[in-house]
Amino acid sequence: MTPNDIACSACKRREAVFFRPYSGQRLCKKCFVDSIEVKVRATIARYNMFSFSDKIAVAVSGGKDSLNLLQILAKIEHKRPKASLVALTVDEGIKGYRDEALKLASAECAELGVGHHTVSFKKLFGFTLNELVEKKRHEADVKLTPCAYCGMLRRRALNLAAREICANKLATGHTLDDEAQTVLMNIFRGDIQRLAKEKPVTDKVHPNLVQRVKPFCEIPENESALYAYLKKTRFQAAPCPYAFEALRNDFRAMLNQMETKHAGTKFTIFNTLERLRPVLRSIPSENNYTDCVECGEPSSGGLCKVCQILREMSC
Ligand code: SF4
Ligand code: ZN
Repeated sequence: MTPNDIACSACKRREAVFFRPYSGQRLCKKCFVDSIEVKVRATIARYNMFSFSDKIAVAVSGGKDSLNLLQILAKIEHKRPKASLVALTVDEGIKGYRDEALKLASAECAELGVGHHTVSFKKLFGFTLNELVEKKRHEADVKLTPCAYCGMLRRRALNLAAREICANKLATGHTLDDEAQTVLMNIFRGDIQRLAKEKPVTDKVHPNLVQRVKPFCEIPENESALYAYLKKTRFQAAPCPYAFEALRNDFRAMLNQMETKHAGTKFTIFNTLERLRPVLRSIPSENNYTDCVECGEPSSGGLCKVCQILREMSC
């Protein structure tokens, strides 16, 4: 360290490379990386996300958040049989985008010695997301964005794949930013049921729905990006070509602006929802899951959303 360098607030020895506005800490590379891993472990413990006998499927898209999550879980799980952790990647069939992510996900899994399964929309549903979007663009009455269709189909694909490998937990790389955006989106839509449903660990609502856990839900996205950069992880940085159409983008921009002006805003939103949990529990749930009348998968109505999409595609 030179006399002009600012020392890390944690170790007091090395040069600080990162300033954390919401805590006032300045951290060196090592202490920053450690702080992310400690935080993820603390989130896992706080929400009781895993137990020793769990088989964990990790949804790995090839982006920074899911690759970081996989690395940290592989580190945490290193004393257990490799079979306790399996990576799942969904190939939605987005030309020029998903191919690179698939290669990166597969390379990282090979390096970590973690099994990797890929599930594709084409094989599972008979069409790619590109084909679905093309068809919808030619129809007059289209209410949903590509992300809305993609989200429904991907949730189904991940759930089926997780069940196929006998996983009882499905870990996703949702960050603090994703969670804060979701809270605001549900409030803006007035969707209290969905607001209550969004949790770091989802409820067991149906025996065929694998429980989802979000160990990165207290990690800000910019810190996830820096973690990947410092760990020299190769991840897909280019955004999905459909991402700009998503409503979520507006909330992302708004929240980032608020966070710049008022550090800690995203944590405040996340923690507010956690403090509201006891009140939200008293809200009657609309999600009395039954079995879809067509495919038998969990559904909140007679015909599940995926079967509705499949019917639309066959017209
Ligand atoms: Fe699917 Fe939207 Fe994500 Fe693209 S941005 S992968 S369309 S959810
Ligand atoms: Zn169905």
